[in-house]
Amino acid sequence: MKYYDNKRILITGGAGFLGSHLCKRLVGEDYEVLCIDNCFTGARKNIADLLSNPNFEFIRHDITFPLYIEADEIYNLACPASPVHYQFDPVQTTKTSVHGAINMLGLAKRVKAKILQASTSEVYGDPEIHPQTESYWGKVNPIGPRSCYDEGKRCAETLFFDYYRQHGLKIKVARIFNTYGPQMHPNDGRVVSNFIVQALSNKDITVFGDGLQTRSFCYVDDLIEGLIRMMDSPDDFTGPVNLGNPKEFSVLELAKKIIETTGSKSKIVFRPLPQDDPCRRQPDISLAKEKLDWEPVIKIDEGLKKTVEYFDKILANE
Ligand code: NAD
Ligand code: UDP
Repeated sequence: MKYYDNKRILITGGAGFLGSHLCKRLVGEDYEVLCIDNCFTGARKNIADLLSNPNFEFIRHDITFPLYIEADEIYNLACPASPVHYQFDPVQTTKTSVHGAINMLGLAKRVKAKILQASTSEVYGDPEIHPQTESYWGKVNPIGPRSCYDEGKRCAETLFFDYYRQHGLKIKVARIFNTYGPQMHPNDGRVVSNFIVQALSNKDITVFGDGLQTRSFCYVDDLIEGLIRMMDSPDDFTGPVNLGNPKEFSVLELAKKIIETTGSKSKIVFRPLPQDDPCRRQPDISLAKEKLDWEPVIKIDEGLKKTVEYFDKILANE
């Protein structure tokens, strides 16, 4: 017998960019939400308007250490996602993905919770097939500067599937492609936030390499909808499933679009391409369409407009 009525949902990394949106959405649907975060890249201010809500609880905790708590569902989002941040302390990044997954899977096993892993398109590395389907095993450098993140996430997927096969856990693995929107950290280092902040302050827009490398950008609300649909999908659908917007842009196109959206006077400047930067990235989302009846609905112009409005306010208050 349960002593509570509402589903209890634990979100690791809940004070970060995606996590804070997920917390808000699920609290809004009257679930009890437990947000776990060590505030490395996230912050209490991202969840400030939830702190007084009786259905919301924030616990400062590092998931590389075990946690004993009750939950019905776990979204495992904790992990720095920007290359600048995950390369700052690469050993801790791997620990977060690997020890963190072991701790959260152990918790899920003990309390019989369903658990979702926020995996990434980075498991495909610098892909040889285009667009990327879930059946592709990837081309990842195991010893480069991005490996702490890529290989950590790959090992986490392995652990999820071993707990599924060995212990019969209810698992869900979502491979998230580049996502952007309000609540991204202004100094996060990712391309959308960097370009918007540079454009709004009329500073040079730093395009790495020749800017012809591509990414496919998903607005945060679409992504959160996909994550929730994945969690709610039938137990026999484990994934991995790609979640992202298939519309592909070069980095240079994105820079021009952001200059246009902001009406900025910024100039585009070219900087060296970081090592192992993937050349092309675009999700094949056929599986998500079929199994989750999901596809993004927010177009880049609309998503960028909302994101620019957010950063405009942030910069005005600095
Ligand atoms: P983010 O950096 O804003 O959020 C990550 C959160 O995890 C932060 O609040 C951080 O403080 C917390 N965290 C980091 N290490 C922790 C630890 N050891 N214990 C507890 N908390 C810890 O990044 P995000 O964009 O919100 O990404 C969330 C998840 O989604 C990550 O796992 C990331 O790998 C995955 N993802 C995101 C994207 C994207 O484009 N946003 C793409 C692919 C995958
Ligand atoms: N990028 C860039 N200028 C920046 C930040 C990033 O040209 O100021 C490029 C980066 O080299 C990469 C792409 O934008 O090719 C996306 O980078 P991001 O760090 O956002 O995500 P990821 O590389 O993990 O997809």
